[in-house]
Amino acid sequence: MDIKEIKEKVERNEYEISFHAEKERYAENITFTDLENAIYNGEILEDYPDDVRGPSCLLLGHSQNRPIHIVCGYTPINWIRIITVYIFNPKGQSGLMKGEEVKEVREMHNYGDCSFCGGKVKSDKVELVYQYRGKLYIFQNVPAGVCQQCGEKYLTAKVAKEIEQRILTKEKWDKTISVPVDVFPEEIAV
Ligand SMILES: [Zn+2]
Repeated sequence: MDIKEIKEKVERNEYEISFHAEKERYAENITFTDLENAIYNGEILEDYPDDVRGPSCLLLGHSQNRPIHIVCGYTPINWIRIITVYIFNPKGQSGLMKGEEVKEVREMHNYGDCSFCGGKVKSDKVELVYQYRGKLYIFQNVPAGVCQQCGEKYLTAKVAKEIEQRILTKEKWDKTISVPVDVFPEEIAV
């Protein structure tokens, strides 16, 4: 993949992000500003031109002195898809995944095949649960692509940014619910 092309497309919002990456992003407190900054100053560490799910690559960039790893690929309309994002930890790293495809424009966004399992991704409205700084946020009626095989979800950059904006700034929510919490005792048998 070409780093210049990736930067240009990200700048134009021509990219998607998997919900897997969204969860990683919130868990590590990587804002969209961090993510995009890391891409703008980033470089390709590993290129996978022959991946079975299409070309993908591993990027390393920095934001606020934190090293950020980003795995991305293409969508069928040659947008960029961000598959995974995490803070690089030299002492052993969790699941890397390779990347792939998706997209069209207009009101019907054309999601391509799943980057994780290769399954078909269909447009739908979904409920998403985000966790950020100890709070849960539930978003309903969110337009997303849903893998018909493994259930992974894909959001366009615009939609994912809208969610981040709401989490960071919204004061009045449509409703608030209480959530039961149970902590398993140590003695429960596996
Ligand atoms: Zn899948």
